[in-house]
Amino acid sequence: MLIWISLIIVPLLFGLYAQSRVTSAYGKNLQIPSRGRITGREAAAAVMESAGIHDVEIVEVEGDLSDHFDPTKKRLALSSANYHGSSLAAVGVAAHEAGHAIQQKVGYAMMKFRQTMVPAVQIASPVAWGVMSFGILLASLLGAKALGIVVLQLGVAALLVIALFQLVTLPVEFDASRRAKVQLVNLGILGQDEMKGVNETLDAAALTYVAAFVATLGNLIYLLMILSGNRRND
Ligand SMILES: [Zn+2]
Repeated sequence: MLIWISLIIVPLLFGLYAQSRVTSAYGKNLQIPSRGRITGREAAAAVMESAGIHDVEIVEVEGDLSDHFDPTKKRLALSSANYHGSSLAAVGVAAHEAGHAIQQKVGYAMMKFRQTMVPAVQIASPVAWGVMSFGILLASLLGAKALGIVVLQLGVAALLVIALFQLVTLPVEFDASRRAKVQLVNLGILGQDEMKGVNETLDAAALTYVAAFVATLGNLIYLLMILSGNRRND
């Protein structure tokens, strides 16, 4: 019980905390207009322009914080509030996405590696979810029988893939924010005193990626402990 709480519940609470921080930091800085009144779209365009990127289209997408950069389609998607808005949050998020476009332009190795892992993660995600939801119960019903062990091993393999992917995501995300912050000041889009709002927003977003990795790691260790327990009973 104590193991379950520390490996599953504590990381889950950490994830909820990180999510609530994003909501509050983003919500707060969405209300603070930037002095330059440049929109998120314009900020993303300026940051990419300064890096010599001309082949990435900027599009508006539905949803809150649905902003992302798609390297395969060379498309920078901004949620409506960030696309049209000129708040510190909008400009910060837009510049962060432009940071990903720069990573692709300069051939940032971590981003390339992360990209090659996407198909594997698409397979691993439902497997890991299935094993964590039903597989553990199934394995305990089967006892130490071979099938139960195979199910758990499958879960471990899937979680390893996801953990590696989430680990590689960390430098990619931190680096995109770093590039964004430098360019926002260098290009004169924001004043140094306005960077606090950008930092709050982007740092909160970065924490959610850390939380996701920690949660996967907790699941992985938990599953390994069940697996070794099953083997011992064999
Ligand atoms: Zn990002």
